Amino acid sequence: MYDNEKRTLVEACKRMYSSGLTVGSWGNISMRIPNNRIIITPSGSNYMRINIDDFVIMDLNGNKIEGRLNPSSERLMHFQIYRKRNDVNAIVHTHSIYSSIMSVINRNIPPITEDIVMILGKNVRVAKYALTGTAELANNVVEALGVNNAALLANHGAVSVGSDMERALTAAEVLEKSSRIMAYVMNFKYSTIPDDDIPKLLNISTDYLNQWKNWK
Ligand SMILES: [Zn+2]
Repeated sequence: MYDNEKRTLVEACKRMYSSGLTVGSWGNISMRIPNNRIIITPSGSNYMRINIDDFVIMDLNGNKIEGRLNPSSERLMHFQIYRKRNDVNAIVHTHSIYSSIMSVINRNIPPITEDIVMILGKNVRVAKYALTGTAELANNVVEALGVNNAALLANHGAVSVGSDMERALTAAEVLEKSSRIMAYVMNFKYSTIPDDDIPKLLNISTDYLNQWKNWK
């Protein structure tokens, strides 16, 4: 079942790994399918060798529907985001380096470049620390995420979301790039996008993201 969606996930895993957004088996990816179900990466994946038989289908109550492997130990965060954000159909969680740096120093990412506002939201926030895999962390992440497409997880990493996998992966890449810029500029006097332009950029963003019709 859902072989096309699983193939999209295989490609997403390879892109996440080869673009340096995660190392080893850390990080995890999921996408929403009909009937309040999701497909999620298994625990302890080798992302360059993963294949469509490795994924796990679950419902949002945590019941396993299909799959021979155990689902990611961080699945509660995925369930909670899908429950609270009807617009989200794909989630990418990484332990990427610069996002992790921001998460360790507990630093929100202000609107320092226009792609942050357009792709991620006005201000990327850090979710309060809680142990990995817990309901507490899931709730903290949803709170920090708000209506944005990305959040940082204190002392842990990052999560990015989108209406499809392409958008969620792009958000992950823009977040890592933005964290990297922030790491370089934070010790200087830096400027941000003027407040008046934020709603304009958010409007442009809606049109811009809708243009990506060729990306499923
Ligand atoms: Zn993690």
